[in-house]
Amino acid sequence: MATGFVYHPAYLAHEAQGYHPENPGRLQHILKRLEQSGVIQKLQVITPAEADLSWIQLIHTTDHIRRIQKASSSHAFLDADTYVNSFSYSAALTACGGMISAVDAVMKGQVENGFCAVRPPGHHAESDRAMGFCLFNNVALAARYAQKQYAIGKILILDWDVHHGNGTQEIFWTDSTVMYISLHQWPLYPGTGSRDETGESEGKGFTLNFPMPSGCGDAEYFQLFNTVIRSAIEKFQPELILISAGFDAHEKDPLAQMKVTTQGFAEMSTTIKELAQRLCSSRLISVLEGGYHLQALAESVEAHIRVLADV
Ligand SMILES: [Zn+2]
Repeated sequence: MATGFVYHPAYLAHEAQGYHPENPGRLQHILKRLEQSGVIQKLQVITPAEADLSWIQLIHTTDHIRRIQKASSSHAFLDADTYVNSFSYSAALTACGGMISAVDAVMKGQVENGFCAVRPPGHHAESDRAMGFCLFNNVALAARYAQKQYAIGKILILDWDVHHGNGTQEIFWTDSTVMYISLHQWPLYPGTGSRDETGESEGKGFTLNFPMPSGCGDAEYFQLFNTVIRSAIEKFQPELILISAGFDAHEKDPLAQMKVTTQGFAEMSTTIKELAQRLCSSRLISVLEGGYHLQALAESVEAHIRVLADV
């Protein structure tokens, strides 16, 4: 069965005035590389529509959604890092729509797994707050949609973006049905994600944070993957695995100081794909978060997709 590749040109229209690290060039480099290598021809390309607001309301307040809509009537900054332009609301709705299309394709057995090449990214967006380049929380939407639409019980979100996914953590903080595991450089933006943040009430123990000092590379990541992370996932027994796939822990990334290699991302992908095959009928959906060195990002995404698609 094929690997799905979710993409829509609307993702390119979300753009800052002047230079910003989270820019359309990120997706353009990924697409160009997948075309030149011929990998794109081996994928099932999925073109999504905007998500219906009723799905976005599963994870965000109505006030938050209205604020994004209103702000994106022109160019504006929602905080020091997070911009919108007049196309951002539509791009963000279409990013969420991409998650819905990916969940549909995987759950209906049309693809084995999928990668969502979406912008804007999502894992910093909290239920009532945009931040860190993120407007709507794409991976959280995928989890809630899979639960509501397909009665999926337990979902694992593995977040290997170099930054802590405070938004995803906040949305599932008291939830025992969605396990959130994050590996991230610490200290680093946004400052959350210490080891003792493990969830509350029903969700206690279903948030697992692995803050790591700057300078960690493949060896340190593999060590965690092959011990505590693997055993936590095996114990949780997810029915669907989602990856918040940022590639900003790459050794060339300008926004952080980790040393993960392109091959390192491929090996982490292999580990998670094997877990998905063993635990949940291969159901695995990966969504782009960060990654700001354009060449390293494109290379790493290709390596990641080659593992997912076995090409
Ligand atoms: Zn990041």
